[in-house]
Amino acid sequence: MKKTSILVIVCCLAIFLSACSSNKISADESTKSERKQEKKEIRDFKKKKAEQPTRDLPKEKVTIPVLMYHSINQDVRNSLIVKPSEFAEQMKWLKDQHYTTIDMDELANMLKTGKNIPEKPVVITFDDGYLDNYQNAYPILKKYQFKATIFVITDKIGQDNHFDQRAMKEMSKNGIKMESHTVTHRELNQLDYVSQLKELTDSKKTISEITGKPVVGLCYPVGRFNADTEKAAKESGYELGFTTKPGFANENKGMYQLPRVRMAPGIKLDSVLPK
Ligand SMILES: [Zn+2]
Repeated sequence: MKKTSILVIVCCLAIFLSACSSNKISADESTKSERKQEKKEIRDFKKKKAEQPTRDLPKEKVTIPVLMYHSINQDVRNSLIVKPSEFAEQMKWLKDQHYTTIDMDELANMLKTGKNIPEKPVVITFDDGYLDNYQNAYPILKKYQFKATIFVITDKIGQDNHFDQRAMKEMSKNGIKMESHTVTHRELNQLDYVSQLKELTDSKKTISEITGKPVVGLCYPVGRFNADTEKAAKESGYELGFTTKPGFANENKGMYQLPRVRMAPGIKLDSVLPK
């Protein structure tokens, strides 16, 4: 009787241990396949970029649309929220119309030099770093291998409705650049120079420590800024500053007053972008 009990215990242990080790193998396998997939995506990005014909223009003639989204969510409660199905349609339209999505570094270079401008460039941006950007927009962007930019409020990372550091790292590795929307989202024109500088330098440092990538773009909370903001942006090493003023980005008004195209629910891209 005693022997039988021991035998049963040994068998149970053996089954338990083998289940543990097979779980470990499958976890290792899935990280391996994730890494493989990631590498493939990066290769595809590079290939796609190399295939795009570009041209050089006088830099004052370069105008590039920067789309401004906030939340991508089924629950449309205000004009800052676009439904995932509508966002998917818009991304498909960009793909069908052969738009080339560019990131902040490329935009800065294009506006400053007028060189290597794709036939139809577009910048996709999201303000505030909402969790639904990761849950709803990111899979669609990934499907089309589109680049995009998220302006992150660093105090909100991992809070309430905002994505966390892990999501930031993952998106950052897959073509979605994390740029600054300050630390606290206070209106910059209400702050003195030193406080503005702190908002700008601290958020820049936090984001680049998480992603391991430089931060060159700054988006002013609620679009508010003053002369000190521009000075502080230059001093803290930003190359681009975005407002909520309507229009296409160009260097005529300087690099720190760049307008954007507001994407409210129901806006058709063919009514705001050239075909
Ligand atoms: Zn904001």
